[in-house]
Amino acid sequence: MTVKKSKATPAPDRPDLDALIAEWQPRMKLGDWTIIAKYETHLGSRGLATVWIRRKHALIQIHDPDRWEPSEFSDTVERVFLHELGHVQLGRLDLPAHGEVNIHEEQIVEAYAHALYATKYASRP
Ligand SMILES: [Zn+2]
Repeated sequence: MTVKKSKATPAPDRPDLDALIAEWQPRMKLGDWTIIAKYETHLGSRGLATVWIRRKHALIQIHDPDRWEPSEFSDTVERVFLHELGHVQLGRLDLPAHGEVNIHEEQIVEAYAHALYATKYASRP
């Protein structure tokens, strides 16, 4: 009997979120903020940022990559983290939470997350 090897793309790595905070928080000029990040087993999206502007406090929740759908496997936890950290940055502007501006915010943080991620891993295929 031959054992078939799965050609499916494996789930993304599950990096240490505190290490990502330590690396990216100073780069994003958020050194005076308290940022907590944690994996969640049940989250409606890959990531979620909750920002308390006056307290300079943010919670970044990342959906545990072991629970991502295979269609999401081309993404990475770090890129999702950068997307959510972008929301922390823009949260400082206290933009309206709903409506057309929110779509623009999503487009902005997505573009920045891709650019930042590509900057770090530009030498990798
Ligand atoms: Zn978003």
